[in-house]
Amino acid sequence: MLRSLLLYLSNASWAKAIITHFFVARRVVRRFVAGETMAEGIEAVRRLNKAGLLVTFDILGESVHSEQDAAQATQQYLVLLEAIAGQQLEATVSLKLTQLGLDISEETCVANLRRILDKARDAGNHVTIDMEGSDYTDATLRVFRAVRQQGFDNVGTVIQASLRRSEQDMAALHAEGAFVRLCKGAYKEPPDRAFPVKADVDANYVKLMQAYLKGDTGAYLGIATHDEKIIDAARAFIRAEGIPGDRFEFQMLYGIRSELQRTLVREGFKMRVYVPYGTQWYPYFMRRLAERPANLWFFVSNFFRA
Ligand SMILES: Cc1cc2nc3c(=O)[nH]c(=O)nc-3n(C[C@H](O)[C@H](O)[C@H](O)COP(=O)(O)OP(=O)(O)OC[C@H]3O[C@@H](n4cnc5c(N)ncnc54)[C@H](O)[C@@H]3O)c2cc1C
Repeated sequence: MLRSLLLYLSNASWAKAIITHFFVARRVVRRFVAGETMAEGIEAVRRLNKAGLLVTFDILGESVHSEQDAAQATQQYLVLLEAIAGQQLEATVSLKLTQLGLDISEETCVANLRRILDKARDAGNHVTIDMEGSDYTDATLRVFRAVRQQGFDNVGTVIQASLRRSEQDMAALHAEGAFVRLCKGAYKEPPDRAFPVKADVDANYVKLMQAYLKGDTGAYLGIATHDEKIIDAARAFIRAEGIPGDRFEFQMLYGIRSELQRTLVREGFKMRVYVPYGTQWYPYFMRRLAERPANLWFFVSNFFRA
C-alpha cells in the first residue's frame, strides 16, 4: 500500500515540485545519490575504487520528451566516458533508454545509444541498459538486440525477477550469450504482469539466477540485490556448481548495505556499485523510499528536525 503510494508519487509532477523544493530532501537524497555534478560522482567512485569496489555510473534522468534533452543526456555520457578513461576509474556506465529519447522514437534512441556505445568501445568500456517499467520491456529488449546485431558487444541489459515473462526472456538472452543484470524490479506493475507476492519474486529470482549461471554460452550475470538470503543462495550455488569468476559479479546500489559490499570484496568476489549522480534525482529517490518504509521515516524525521 505504502509502496504503491510512493511509486505513484515518483511519477507525479506536483509531488516532485514540492519535495525537490525542500533543502532537507536534498540532504536525505545524498545517502543514495553521490551528488548533483560529475565531479561529485567521480569523488565517490574514487573512494569506492580505493576499497576494491567496481562501479557503474548512472547519470540520473528518464522520461525525456524532447530531442534536445535526449541529445544533451547523450553528450553528458560522452563526457563521462572520457573522464572515466582519462582518470582511469574502474567504472562502466548504466543508462535508461527513455533518457535517450525512447518516448520520442526508437530511431532517435538507437542513434543516441550508438554514439555512446561507440565512445565506450573506443575506451574499452561497457554500457548497461537499465530496465524501466514493463511498458518498456519489449522496446528495451528490441533496442538492446538491434545494437548487438549492429556489432556492439559492449552492451548489457536488465531483467526483473518480478515479471512473469522474465523466465522466457532470460532463457532467450542466455542462448544469445548476453550480459544481463538480474534485479527484483523497482516499478509498480499490475498482477497480470508481475508476481504480487514478494516471496514469489524472491523465489523466481533464485530460479532465474541459477539457470543463467549454468551452461556455457558466454552469458554473464550481474547479481543485483541487497537481499542476504539470495546472496547466500548465490554463494552456495556458485561453490557447488564451480561457476568461474568470469561469469558473474555482484551488484548493489550506492548507499545500501555498504558493509555487505565490502564483505563480498574481502571474500574475493567482483562487486560493482551503481553510483547515480545528477540533478534529476526525484524518481530514483522515490523508488528507493518505496523499497524500504524505514527510509521514509528517516526522511520524515529529518524534515521535522530541519
Ligand atoms: C545494481 C542495481 C541495479 C538496478 N537496476 C534496476 C533496473 O534497471 N530496473 C529496475 O527495475 N530495478 C533496478 N534495481 C532495483 C531493484 O529492482 C530493487 O528494487 C532493489 O534492488 C531492492 O531489491 P533487493 O533485491 O535489494 O531486495 P529487497 O528484498 O527489496 O531488499 C533486501 C534488503 O536490502 C536492503 N534494501 C533494499 N532496498 C533498500 C533501500 N532502498 N534502502 C535501504 N535498504 C534497502 C534492506 O536491508 C532489505 O531488507 C537495481 C538494483 C541494483 C542493486
